[in-house]
Amino acid sequence: MNITIVGGGYVGTVTGASCRFFGHNVTILDTDQRKIDLLSQGKSPIYEPGLEELLQLPGTPLTCTTAYEDAVPHADMIFITVGTPTDVDGTPNMTYVQDAAHHIGLNLGTGYTLIVNKSTVPVGSGNWVESMVADAFLSRKGHRPDGTFSVASNPEFLREGSAIHDTFYADRIVIGSGEARAIAMLSDLYLPLRNQDFVPPPFLPRPEGISAVPLVTTDLASAEMIKYAANAFLTVKISFINEIARLAEKVGADVAQLSRGIGLDSRIGSRFLQAGIGWGGSCFGKDTAALAAMAREYGETMHIVEAARHVNCKQRELAVEKILGELKILKGCSIGILGVAFKANTDDLRDAPALDIAKRLIGRGAKVLAHDPVALERARQEAAIPNLHFKNTAAEVFEGASAVLLATDWQDYRRLPYAELRRAMKTPTFLDGRNFLDPDEMTAYGYRYIGVGR
Ligand code: NAD
Repeated sequence: MNITIVGGGYVGTVTGASCRFFGHNVTILDTDQRKIDLLSQGKSPIYEPGLEELLQLPGTPLTCTTAYEDAVPHADMIFITVGTPTDVDGTPNMTYVQDAAHHIGLNLGTGYTLIVNKSTVPVGSGNWVESMVADAFLSRKGHRPDGTFSVASNPEFLREGSAIHDTFYADRIVIGSGEARAIAMLSDLYLPLRNQDFVPPPFLPRPEGISAVPLVTTDLASAEMIKYAANAFLTVKISFINEIARLAEKVGADVAQLSRGIGLDSRIGSRFLQAGIGWGGSCFGKDTAALAAMAREYGETMHIVEAARHVNCKQRELAVEKILGELKILKGCSIGILGVAFKANTDDLRDAPALDIAKRLIGRGAKVLAHDPVALERARQEAAIPNLHFKNTAAEVFEGASAVLLATDWQDYRRLPYAELRRAMKTPTFLDGRNFLDPDEMTAYGYRYIGVGR
């Protein structure tokens, strides 16, 4: 099949590289020439483990372009994977989707094309995209595109940092459409994944116990809603344990033991039950805001989701309060931050708790020194904040610091020479914002170790 991906970011590049692996002719289109140049050389425009290896496996060459006229006319299936960032009122900014739909409509070929929304978009967006494609088609061709195309929804559930794994060994695949032809095409596309009968790439062995991936076929609106509901549920789970962590701290309980004690209940499950400085990233904040905004539009209130957002915001402030509680005065202090990316194994800085906390500390007069094993260069470009200094080595953030906050649980930070690093600090306060390190060990190294909820 000829597959075109519109939007070569985290989702689009992974989707394109995966479709190519399964033998399809893939074109990736992005308006960002830099990303297209990198992709054309087989390089990944983002940091995602395994992605470059996947792009460089032998197979049909990937076509990369910024021109819709080169990407759309021949396509059997077009995935829209452009960004849908949050607007000020919480609604998703749909201008990128609008632009993509318009240009797809202008360039549709003569055969049937299935347009698939993979971007996370509010309920009704499938119909909206359909009308924009049709209008653009009409404006160029002078007649309506009867039967030439249809629009389906195929929400994406990958997690940055394990995106290739999540694509090849998904928990489920969701397809939403009212048209049998669209459902059949997507079901066929995903057949090797559903049956798990492909030979895995050498660097991505099939995990034990995976023999099939369930396919959930729904109407358009339900598929669109599933994505928001799934992300909202995960944020609720994290905020729930963070709220419990606050109380655990007050009553002298250990949230890590609590998490284990409740997570082993199969109705609850242990994942997303780790207390810390809260969630961030490109999806949770914006998708919960979008869900709440969508509810308001329909006269509903998402009380639980709004509460999860509130708790998450408080969790970031809690990090500042904990440091303040130790140091009393932040003015003139140097605070080190380990990890800038919103989570480990990605270079994504969108809504990163580390950056938010850094701003709050700086707002109280501190100077912040931050390190990240992967996202440093991006941070220097995208987060130029006065009094926030990005350092090339983790050791540098300890130098003269009155406190160090571990904000991202990169594996590299497990193995730092903490005993030695402590000696470079002004006062040895260490806030482990991810409950990542061993409290006893850190205390033995001479730190005043503070976790979250323990
Ligand atoms: P991204 O910002 O990494 O990538 C979007 C890409 O689209 C960018 O490269 C941008 O240059 C390109 N683009 C914008 N307008 C375009 C246009 N008109 N034509 C062609 N290209 C255009 O975003 P992402 O993280 O890949 O997310 C894409 C969508 O997938 C969002 O709706 C997001 O919510 C959803 N999603 C993301 C994740 C994730 O973990 N990143 C997971 C699931 C779903």
